[in-house]
Amino acid sequence: MFSLKDKVSLITGGNGGIGRGIAIGYANSGSKVAIVGRNQEKSKGVKEEILSTGGSAESFYCDVADYKSVEKCVSSINDKFGDVNILVNNAGIGIRKKEPQELSPEDWRTVMDTNLASMHYFSSLLIDQMKKNKSGKIVNIGSMLSIFGASHAAVYAASKGGVVQYTKSCAVAWAKYGIQVNAILPGYITTNLTDGFRSNFPEEAALVTSRIPSERWGVPEDLAGTAIFLASESSNYVTGASVAVDGGYSVRG
Ligand code: NDP
Repeated sequence: MFSLKDKVSLITGGNGGIGRGIAIGYANSGSKVAIVGRNQEKSKGVKEEILSTGGSAESFYCDVADYKSVEKCVSSINDKFGDVNILVNNAGIGIRKKEPQELSPEDWRTVMDTNLASMHYFSSLLIDQMKKNKSGKIVNIGSMLSIFGASHAAVYAASKGGVVQYTKSCAVAWAKYGIQVNAILPGYITTNLTDGFRSNFPEEAALVTSRIPSERWGVPEDLAGTAIFLASESSNYVTGASVAVDGGYSVRG
């Protein structure tokens, strides 16, 4: 029920943090994994990790914020593996300033293009092959800031709020083709992205830690199970959902 045997998955930002955790989980479930990122050394590292355990993977360069780069990347993945069955839109960045007015127009564009426009680039380029196959799974990575606001992360929160609405819209549009589109909203997970938050905003980070009901930050491996479920046939009647994987953070009053 949860097997991804012979499915081709494309994971943006599959070379680090949460994306790496999902890539390894998918490979262990039988998927051929396309690892997409800018840093080729990191991408090759994850590829080697998967190959060393008998899995199937290849790494591909892409700047997900650049449409032409996305087009080229999708075409290379199709050449190598054929049609993509599972897309995980995971690549993301955060630019944190003390208050929203400190964000420059360039900060705004960079975060929105990387976190939100990229999802549209990949989804719209892959939709025809999923339609042709009458099946497909798209998993978009949101955040607790898809739900909550944060004074230090206004553009990040705006992009992640957009992830949930984009997910719902695509789910409604593509359900009739047998394609499911869902989002995962990770809680606070220890990765490169949050290392900067912990060191630069220690008071906010301490507040976060104190309100996690599970009494610990998550690790990338905590996301893999939900990501496998949303990529497998077990979730064929689940679409448009945003699933929090947050140790209870978002339901605490
Ligand atoms: P990391 O910084 O560890 O990983 C981010 C990944 O995104 C990197 O692998 C990076 O690859 C890739 N990436 C960023 N920009 C681009 C780009 N322009 N083109 C291609 N790849 C890019 O962070 P996380 O693993 O924590 O983050 C993964 C996702 O999870 C993000 O969307 C983040 O917003 C989300 N998230 C994380 C949370 C956490 O607590 N960690 C909480 C909630 C959501 P490269 O270095 O090769 O560019």
